[in-house]
Amino acid sequence: MSIRPLVILPDSKLRLVSEPVPSITDEIRKLADDMLETMYDAPGVGLAAIQIGVPVRMVTMDVSKTEAERQPLVLVNPEITWASEEKRTYEEGCLSIPEYYEEVERPDRVRFRYMNLQGETVEQEADGLLATCVQHEIDHLNGVLFIDYLSKLKRDRVMTKFKKAAKREGGHP
Ligand code: ZN
Repeated sequence: MSIRPLVILPDSKLRLVSEPVPSITDEIRKLADDMLETMYDAPGVGLAAIQIGVPVRMVTMDVSKTEAERQPLVLVNPEITWASEEKRTYEEGCLSIPEYYEEVERPDRVRFRYMNLQGETVEQEADGLLATCVQHEIDHLNGVLFIDYLSKLKRDRVMTKFKKAAKREGGHP
């Protein structure tokens, strides 16, 4: 396992639409291990493969509160199959947009389907933080970021801030 560098805003990779995973291979299992290690190290509750620069439809999540209760979830090719009409507002953050938090409204409950690392199709329902997290992470697979739900004014402000920071570090053009 290894910790991989995170892709940070305004890197254009974050806007890519990731490709489906055809089957579970050793390479995919290794990627899942690296994603989990990177996520726990950050620390974060969710990570999409594109956030470490790999454009495949894979997500890791763990919304448990302590290390002792760890419940890692690896979702391959996840999709939302149902969303409640009731909404809920959560303050979201993103490992690719460090130290920026803003309230986002999303469906309160969702049902989602994915393939696990055994190659089985699983369907699961979630509410609370897990529901928010799975929607946020699946958005990443479609090149969507949580700042896209904010007003244009707020989004422009955060983009300007991160563009300046990238310039200072001489990183992303
Ligand atoms: Zn994110």
